[in-house]
Amino acid sequence: MHSSQMLINGEQVSSHSGKTEIIRNPANQEPVAEVYVGGREDARLALEAAKSAFPGWSETSSLRRAEILHAAAGLVRSRAEQIARLLTQEQGKPLKNALLEVLASADVLDYYAEEGKRNFGEWIDSGRTRSIVLRQPIGVAALITPWNFPVDLLAWKVGPALAAGCTIVAKPPSRAPLAATELLKAVNDAGLPAGAANVVHGPGGEVGAELVENPISRKIAFTGETVTGRWIVAHAAAHIKRLSLELGGQSPFIVAEDADIEKAAAACVRRAFSNMGQICVSVNRVYAASEIAEEFTSSVVRLTQRLKIGNGLDPDVDLGPMFSESQREKTKAHVADALQKGAEVLSGGCEPEGDEYSRGFFYLPTVLTNVDHGMRIMREETFGPVAPIMRFESLDEAIRLANESEYGLAAYIFTNDLKTALRAAERLEAGGVGVNVNDVVDIQAPFGGWKQSGLGRELGRSGLEAYLETKHIRLAI
Ligand code: NAD
Repeated sequence: MHSSQMLINGEQVSSHSGKTEIIRNPANQEPVAEVYVGGREDARLALEAAKSAFPGWSETSSLRRAEILHAAAGLVRSRAEQIARLLTQEQGKPLKNALLEVLASADVLDYYAEEGKRNFGEWIDSGRTRSIVLRQPIGVAALITPWNFPVDLLAWKVGPALAAGCTIVAKPPSRAPLAATELLKAVNDAGLPAGAANVVHGPGGEVGAELVENPISRKIAFTGETVTGRWIVAHAAAHIKRLSLELGGQSPFIVAEDADIEKAAAACVRRAFSNMGQICVSVNRVYAASEIAEEFTSSVVRLTQRLKIGNGLDPDVDLGPMFSESQREKTKAHVADALQKGAEVLSGGCEPEGDEYSRGFFYLPTVLTNVDHGMRIMREETFGPVAPIMRFESLDEAIRLANESEYGLAAYIFTNDLKTALRAAERLEAGGVGVNVNDVVDIQAPFGGWKQSGLGRELGRSGLEAYLETKHIRLAI
């Protein structure tokens, strides 16, 4: 069985308490690995190591930092198969998706290796003075990540933090820490100075809390639930820490009457069910124009029923199990609430039957109709494989419904009319709007949420700026 240690000051170490935990495969409960479980003491040691490494790393030239990040990307690629296998076994997603996630994280390291070279300053002539503006690394950054994309979402933080010259302590999700730790091992093996990148395993309430509350960390980059984000804002306030928060979502998907129905249905099915709906930018609410709602809905049902569900290690599966029993219970509760209030199930709505599913957290991808905003499924973040479809009569109504949410991460519209596309894209309250595309993530563009979906941006140029402070040097001449 695989064994996973923490990484502190360049060494693989066990936890202060010696406590370990078994990570199990959500497809069948088989043990995958034993991990050391850290606590506040381990987090403090890691923060101290990152603090000691900061002067050296922050003064390393951006060219040298880029060499190390490129080397790390190369190591991640050469180990991708092995890391992806661990990811599938701890998280459940199909192996082909796990591999794409690992390779995408290598691309992020490469991107920020180059972006770090372009951390330019400014020179301002003010007559009898000159002003120089520098952008310098914030200091020690704590990187706290969730279990749905444990490798990629960590790379979104590791890449820009190290490229900016920050040193880091990463806290991967407690029940899916294996692949994320391998990412950080690759970064260390690429020649990073000891202590510049550390990993501490353990519960959010202890390890995560220490990283947030300890004055050594100057920056907290967090992806996870909105409720955890609120806790972090409140506790980071004690030291006015810099924050990047990527929180929950409840993304609307609008299909206008002039949309390409087949393309829209395929895009909707993919973004609603991939990773079992456990994506912050998953399609959570579908609004279809009444003229095309019937045709669109039957396409969605047909495509949904083609999806093959099973153990992620089976090369033929499209969908794996859900991550945990509590995720599945939440999904079931939201579906039950909708049915009780008058919704109708067109596909799924229960667990699949058969021996191969009996020990895993499986649930069938589910299509609902007759839904309205009185139902939890249309308001709360389900984080499960459910596509509820509601009809609308006018674009104004669709946009009003789409914006009727405390979240504002992603929104999608499918239409063949440029005027409709622009009107909707400008009025939708979301950090990312997909027009005829079911994904708002692009490594070169800012990603983040409006309203209660977050604070700050990752990826693109903004991703690097999130780890930099501005300094004005005023020179009298
Ligand atoms: P979570 O908030 O429970 O946990 C996220 C991380 O925070 C974990 O590592 C956890 O151990 C840690 N944590 C928990 N309590 C903490 C505390 N008090 N202090 C510091 N750290 C603490 O989220 P999750 O269930 O792992 O992930 C699912 C959530 O993540 C969903 O709400 C989803 O929408 C969100 N998410 C958002 C994005 C985005 O980019 N906006 C991307 C992926 C997931």
